[in-house]
Parts: sequence; C-alpha cells; structure tokens
Amino acid sequence: MDNCLFCKIARGEIPSRKVYEDDEVFAFHDINPARPVHILVIPKRHITSLATVGDDDAPVLGRMLAVANKLASESGSPDGFRVIINNGRVGGQEVQHLHAHIVGGPEPVGPMLKRV
Ligand code: AMP
Ligand code: ZN
Repeated sequence: MDNCLFCKIARGEIPSRKVYEDDEVFAFHDINPARPVHILVIPKRHITSLATVGDDDAPVLGRMLAVANKLASESGSPDGFRVIINNGRVGGQEVQHLHAHIVGGPEPVGPMLKRV
C-alpha cells in the first residue's frame, strides 16, 4: 500500500520511535501516548483491520500478541498491560492499517470502557 501511513513507517520511509522489529511485525511508540507506555504493534504486510483478515493472517496476528508482553515489560510496564485493537467506524479506528495498542505503565490503566 503506497500511501498507507503505517506501511511507510514499517518500511522506514516515515520516522518512528521503533521498539521492535522482526520479519513479520514492527512496533513503535505511539506519537500521542495515552499512558506512560503506549506502543503500537503492526503487521509489516498491509492488513486493513480485523474485519479483513483471513486464515492466512493467523500467524502474524499471533506474533503481534506474542511480542506484547516482552515489549510492555521492557518499556516500563512489567506488572501487566492492556491490548486494544480498534476496528472500523464502530471501533473508532483512525489509521486503516491493523495495529494493536499496548498501553500500560507503573499504574493501572483504568476501567475498560466508559459506560454509555
Ligand atoms: P486508532 O484510533 O486505533 O486507529 O489509533 C491510531 C493511533 O496512531 C493513535 O493513537 C495515534 O496517536 C497514532 N499515530 C498516528 N500517527 C502516528 C505516527 N506517525 N507515529 C506514531 N503513532 C501515530
Ligand atoms: Zn498499510
């Protein structure tokens, strides 16, 4: 995807504060952190959202979650963390390249959702 922000970040064409990279996933600090630890983990290959994944995507989805604990611990959230994946309009997804938010820090992140 030529014009996708997170594809460009994964390719190094747009700078980011990288925290991890392997052959399948790339992780970097969120530019506007909501908690002391706020990392985004993305597949290097463009996937728009969980609404567009297929069976072939299962390994990279697993990798995104498998690295979360290590990244959270090493970045200042050793006692737990939260993973958030926003999808589509209802999920409040702003960047149309699948990403898992890993949020945490020394203190609890807080209630899961504000009740409406
Ligand atoms: P979402 O609403 O789930 O699509 O989240 C998009 C996230 O991407 C937000 O938390 C933004 O702060 C973050 N973001 C947008 N642009 C950048 C960027 N260039 N580098 C790092 N994070 C970004
Ligand atoms: Zn992309």
